[in-house]
Amino acid sequence: MIDLRAWWTEIDAAAKRLEGRVLQTGLRHADDLSAKLGVPVFLKLENRQWTGSFKLRGATNATALLSEAERARGLVTASSGNHGRALAHAARALGARCTVFLSPQVPQYKRDALAALGAEVRIAGRSQDEAEDEARAASNAEGRVFVPPFDDRGVIAGQGTIGDEILARLPEAELVVVPLSGGGLAAGVAAALKQRRPGIRVIGVSMERGAAMHASLAAGHPVEIEELPTLADALAGGIGRSNRYTFEMVRALLDDAVLVSEEEIAEGIRAAALLGEVLEGGGAVGLAALIAGKLLLSGPTVALLSGGNIDPALHRKIIAPKAPA
Ligand SMILES: *Cc1c(COP(=O)(O)O)cnc(C)c1O
Repeated sequence: MIDLRAWWTEIDAAAKRLEGRVLQTGLRHADDLSAKLGVPVFLKLENRQWTGSFKLRGATNATALLSEAERARGLVTASSGNHGRALAHAARALGARCTVFLSPQVPQYKRDALAALGAEVRIAGRSQDEAEDEARAASNAEGRVFVPPFDDRGVIAGQGTIGDEILARLPEAELVVVPLSGGGLAAGVAAALKQRRPGIRVIGVSMERGAAMHASLAAGHPVEIEELPTLADALAGGIGRSNRYTFEMVRALLDDAVLVSEEEIAEGIRAAALLGEVLEGGGAVGLAALIAGKLLLSGPTVALLSGGNIDPALHRKIIAPKAPA
């Protein structure tokens, strides 16, 4: 059983803690999409969140929950992507040391971006999995706090504050569509929404290519699957064999989990670009599922746009007019 009331208490506390430390992002009405789909459609603009993704909420909440002594010893993680950026930003804002462990394969520009946010970058291991092992070993040996990207109460509660903001602006929302990878985002948002508005539907969306949570839900337990190249690179990776929170929460709280193809993701990126919103692939999967007609719509619908950190050259290529066949 998921104790929604207890989660709500943690999410509500997180919302107060995050005030002034993260952006309360806008909820934008999408006129053309609403006309096309026949229900009011709104976009929750976490692509405009500081550091370019919602992950700042979880990282900031988890960091703020630590004691001063823990913050002084420092934080570690092993993500070169949105979680790494978010944690580096959160740590600096809260005066904590932050070390990000990366494998030698991580490109120099990503190392530089983390260093520019004030993080210490350590190159370790031969793969990113080994870099994470090194990060966990260092956290044990040096008494530092490893901040996981999704399977952590403080992280989940931080992401849940998005649900709170959606209902504050749109209390009549009937469906919220959420990008789904490790499930910290979907778990937190669904917990907030379902505690406040029990009849609301929440649907998770992943890419067809390498969706570990989707495969785990189908199997009934966490499974590992092969990682494949995808436009939604922020959604790649496993959910952890010893998953503690997000698998059970996602299983209990989501009404459905659907998949989108690479072409559908590109279409989502293009539709957002027409509205002046820059999305990365992982940030576009919810919108993509709506546009592709994969969801049953009944009333006011929100697509959560989770991030905008895309390589500008790739973005240009995706939105360029197609040559006539
Ligand atoms: C991390 C991430 C997600 C997925 O979040 P989970 O909590 O792992 O499910 C979705 N979109 C973007 C842009 C992300 O960075």
